[in-house]
Amino acid sequence: MGVAGAGAIAASGLGFDVAVAESTKVKQQLRIEGAAEAHSICPYCAVGCALIAYVRPRPGGAIELLQIEGDPDSPVNEGRLCPKGATAMQLAVSPRRVESPLYRAPGATSWQKISWDDMLDRIAKNIKASRDATFVAVDANGNTVNRTEGIAFAGGAAFSSEEGYVATKVMRGLGLVHLEQQARV
Ligand code: SF4
Repeated sequence: MGVAGAGAIAASGLGFDVAVAESTKVKQQLRIEGAAEAHSICPYCAVGCALIAYVRPRPGGAIELLQIEGDPDSPVNEGRLCPKGATAMQLAVSPRRVESPLYRAPGATSWQKISWDDMLDRIAKNIKASRDATFVAVDANGNTVNRTEGIAFAGGAAFSSEEGYVATKVMRGLGLVHLEQQARV
């Protein structure tokens, strides 16, 4: 008992007992303790890394998102995520998330919120104006080409095959020849 007592006093003197008590407290307060696992896929790019979202039901039926991390069982990412995927939780919880279209007028220094209808109308008008101004019906050699040289289109890497198909059809219909994909640039 004498030895044990001396040891306890020595450990206390070095702060070990405090460290153990603190780590025990952290373990008891584990943020995802008792949470359910929901499996998902990172939405940012076509690599398709698997995610685990830790969620907990709240009184009233709402679901609280506690943590998102890479799924170690996925053969694609084996638990790892790139910096973008590692912040996937911010898509759901960040107070800085942009939730409506923003417009900055030429020369303006600040952005203003506009509605989705206003934004789509603006894009449609600009596409028509650019197409009308740059459309080439016949090239320098007299060949009929019917192309739009003043607009380029870049798809996102999160495009599904179907979205890519539709986007390509629409853009080719407008006469675009400059089509790219974010995963290639
Ligand atoms: S953005 Fe990063 S984490 Fe997400 S699927 Fe692509 S490589 Fe994976």
